[in-house]
Amino acid sequence: MNYIKFTDIAQLIARLASSNTVYVPYTHDNKYFLSSWNGKEAESESFLFNPFRTALPFLKALFFQAKCVVAQYLPVSDTVEASEKQRIVFGVKACDLLGKKVLDTIFLKGEYVDPLYSDNSENTVIISGDCTEALENCFCTVVGLQPHPEEEYDLNMSPINGGYIFESGSEKGEKIIKDHLDLFTEATKEHINHRNQQRTKLNKIVERQNQNYKTAESRQRIIEENINAPIWHDVSKTCVECNGCNYVCPTCYCFLLYDQKHDDGNERMKVWDSCFHAGYARMAGGITPRLHLVDRFKNHYYHKFDSFVKNYGFEACSGCGRCIETCMGQIDKREVLKNIEKYVELK
Ligand code: SF4
Ligand code: SF4
Repeated sequence: MNYIKFTDIAQLIARLASSNTVYVPYTHDNKYFLSSWNGKEAESESFLFNPFRTALPFLKALFFQAKCVVAQYLPVSDTVEASEKQRIVFGVKACDLLGKKVLDTIFLKGEYVDPLYSDNSENTVIISGDCTEALENCFCTVVGLQPHPEEEYDLNMSPINGGYIFESGSEKGEKIIKDHLDLFTEATKEHINHRNQQRTKLNKIVERQNQNYKTAESRQRIIEENINAPIWHDVSKTCVECNGCNYVCPTCYCFLLYDQKHDDGNERMKVWDSCFHAGYARMAGGITPRLHLVDRFKNHYYHKFDSFVKNYGFEACSGCGRCIETCMGQIDKREVLKNIEKYVELK
């Protein structure tokens, strides 16, 4: 593990930005977003470390773009977009890395490898960071994660007094440290102890704020055994079908393909889709297995907490809480799960 002083981090980023596109956090309206480093920050030597996750699932959008061309044809031959400069993205948290794990499972580890996703993934270095504060809707500990990254990163940053500990998780990350070794020293035992104490403290805070949401039964069991229970009508009654919960979710990966005609040819486009749309599961002849909103609402939970576990062995929810933050119907996923469990107990 290595240590870099706060005063040297802007220099590291400026060096990385000379040959890569580097995304760093910025703050607006008490929320965090990511944008490309433009050099102005380097002049002021400022670097903003985000204490909690970004408002939007930026990492997902880098790998699996909200809208992109996947092929051009007639008269242009089939093609996928060429890779751009290597991207280095800071500000990623553990909840987004679980999103990446879900997307990798679908787009890289199945029978078919998505070439665009694969290019984007290979072309990106992820520099994640420990959370040092929790939002009121964060519930990563409920779904078995910690508020600090444990896997899926190339480098991880942990802020401690006076600087950051950098821990590498891949060869890509190791190379960055080696190439800029003059800016780093070995992390000391005191540094690591400090980091571990901070981690334990925040972990307790997230656990404490979610103590009433822990379910005695596994979420898979709760959903599986009650998929046809009338309680779903109650827990979904304020849903206005805005689809926001799917679009902000770092683990949702549904997409739609359509063709777009231009004067000089045609393009096949890929855009994010959402299973809350009434037409999402529609088949030939207009028939749909999920005609009513309550069916689509249930499906969202069934997929994340039951079918994904059956197929891939882990839940497709990282507890980032973005769906709670964005919901126009003020629906809290933790309460929905808890209410269904209570329903089971009363049955
Ligand atoms: S379902 Fe909600 S809490 Fe879970 S990963 Fe998606 S947005 Fe985050
Ligand atoms: S964000 Fe809330 S209101 Fe919108 S579709 Fe999701 S559950 Fe329904």
